[in-house]
Amino acid sequence: MMGDYILEIAYLIASVLYILGLKMMSGPKTARSGNLWAAAGMTVAIIATIFLYTDESGNHLHNLPWIGAGIAIGSVIGWIIAKRVEMTAMPQMVSLFNGMGGACAAIIGLIEFPHYLHNGDWLILATIFAGLVIGSVSFAGSMVAFLKLNGNLNKDIRLPFYNIINTLLIVVTLGLTVCLAGGHIHSNPELWVYMLLGLSLAYGILFVLPIGGADMPVVISLLNSFTGMAAAFGGFLYGNMAMLTGGILVGSAGTILTVVMCNAMNRSLTAVIFGAFGTGGATATAASGEQKSYKQTNPSDLAVLLNYSSKVIIVPGYGLAVAQAQHVVHEMEQLLESRGVEVKYAIHPVAGRMPGHMNVLLAESNVEYDKLVEMEDVNPEFATTDVVLVLGANDVVNPAAKEDPSSPIYGMPILNVEDAKHTVVNKRSMSVGYAGIDNDLFYRDKTSMLFGDAKKALTELVAELKSL
Ligand code: NDP
Repeated sequence: MMGDYILEIAYLIASVLYILGLKMMSGPKTARSGNLWAAAGMTVAIIATIFLYTDESGNHLHNLPWIGAGIAIGSVIGWIIAKRVEMTAMPQMVSLFNGMGGACAAIIGLIEFPHYLHNGDWLILATIFAGLVIGSVSFAGSMVAFLKLNGNLNKDIRLPFYNIINTLLIVVTLGLTVCLAGGHIHSNPELWVYMLLGLSLAYGILFVLPIGGADMPVVISLLNSFTGMAAAFGGFLYGNMAMLTGGILVGSAGTILTVVMCNAMNRSLTAVIFGAFGTGGATATAASGEQKSYKQTNPSDLAVLLNYSSKVIIVPGYGLAVAQAQHVVHEMEQLLESRGVEVKYAIHPVAGRMPGHMNVLLAESNVEYDKLVEMEDVNPEFATTDVVLVLGANDVVNPAAKEDPSSPIYGMPILNVEDAKHTVVNKRSMSVGYAGIDNDLFYRDKTSMLFGDAKKALTELVAELKSL
C-alpha cells in the first residue's frame, strides 16, 4: 500500500537524520545542531508511525488521545527538567532519561509477552525477553546511578560477596530467559516472567551499587548502550526500522564510548564492573594521617607570575563548573592574550562529571574551540609551559595514577601538569576529589595553592591583572 511505502521512506529519512546527527555530535562546533538533526529524525519517525502505520488488517493506530497525552506530558516534563538542570547535574539527568528509555523497553516486553507466550515461536519470545531483561537492568541501574550522582546514595555500597551474588544473579536470569523463550516452563509461565522482571531489576541495582569513584561515567555509558540494545529488540519485534536503527545506533555509540572511556582511564570493563574503585585510596589517605606541607599563593602574586609568562595552560575541572567560573576564566584568558601570553585549555576526557563536560562548559562562555586541547596533544606541551593553572580539578591531575601502583586510580592517564615550571592549584581546601583520594601534586615543590571558590578567586585575579 502507498501508506506503507511512505512510512518506510519516512523511517529511512529518520535513520539518515540520526546518523548525520550522531556524526555532528562528535565535534563541539556542530554538536548542538547534531542534537537538533537527530531530534528531527525522531519527530519524523513518531509522526509517520502515528499517522501512517497500519496493522495486517489495514487499521490505523486507534489510541491517539492516549498517545498524544503521553507525548505532551513527557515533552513538558522533559523540557522543564532540561531547561532547569545545572551543568554540574547533567550526568544525573542523562542517567534519569536513560533509565526512562530502559523502562519503556521493559514495558514493551511486559505488554507483548502475553500475546506470544503460549503460541509464539522462540525467536519472538527471545526478542521480547531480551528487551525485558536488558531494559529492566538499564532502568534499575540508571536509577541507582542517578541517586548516587545526585548524592542521595553513598558512592559505593558493597554487599559481602557481591561479585559472587551478581554472577549468580546474571546466570539465573539468563537461564530463566532461555527456559521461558524455549517454552520449557509449562506451569504458570506468567509468574516466571514476573520473576524474570524481578531478577533483572535486582541485577540492575546490585550491579551499579558497588561501583563508585571515577568509574561512574563508564557505567552510565554502558547503561546507555543497554537501553539502545533493548530498544533495538523492540524495533525488531515490531518490524519498526526507525526504532531498530535508532536502538542499534544508541547501543553501538554507547558501547564505543564505554570502550573509549575505559581506554582513557586505562581500565578494563571487567575491572570497572567487578573492581573496587575509589575505596582503597580513601582508606590509605585516612590511614596515613601524615601532615604534609604545601605552599600558598594569592591573587596578587599570581597575577604578576601570569602576566610575565609566555605560555599558560589552564586545566578546568569539576570545581570550575560548580563555581560557574567559565565566563571569568575566559575574561582572564583574553586579558592574558592581549598581553602577549599564549593561553590554552587542557581537556581531560573525564574532567567534570560527564564526558565532554569541560567542552560544553567553556563553549558556554565562547572560548574558541581550537584553544581546547585534548589530553594526548597537550601532555607533551606542559614541559614548555611557564604556568599551569589548575581550576577546581583534582583526580585528573593526580600523579598517583602514574607513580603509585597501590593507588585506586593507578593506570588512569592524567594531565602531566607537574612537568611545567609552576603549577598553581585553585580549590577551596585540601580536601579530596571525586575518587576520594589525596593528591601529592598539591605538596610538590613547584606547586602553589590558591584557596577559594573558583569564581571569586578568578574575579580577584582578573582585577589584579587589570591593575598591572
Ligand atoms: P574532582 O572531582 O576530582 O575534583 C574537583 C575539585 O574541585 C575538588 O577537589 C574540590 O576541592 C574542588 N572544588 C569544588 N567546588 C569548588 C569551587 N566552588 N571552587 C573551586 N574548587 C572547587 O574533579 P576532576 O574534574 O579533576 O575529576 C573528575 C572526577 O569525576 C574524576 O574522578 C572522574 O572520573 C569523575 N567523574 C567524571 C565523569 C565524567 O564523565 N567526566 C562522570 C562522573 C564522575 P575543594 O572541595 O577543596 O574545593
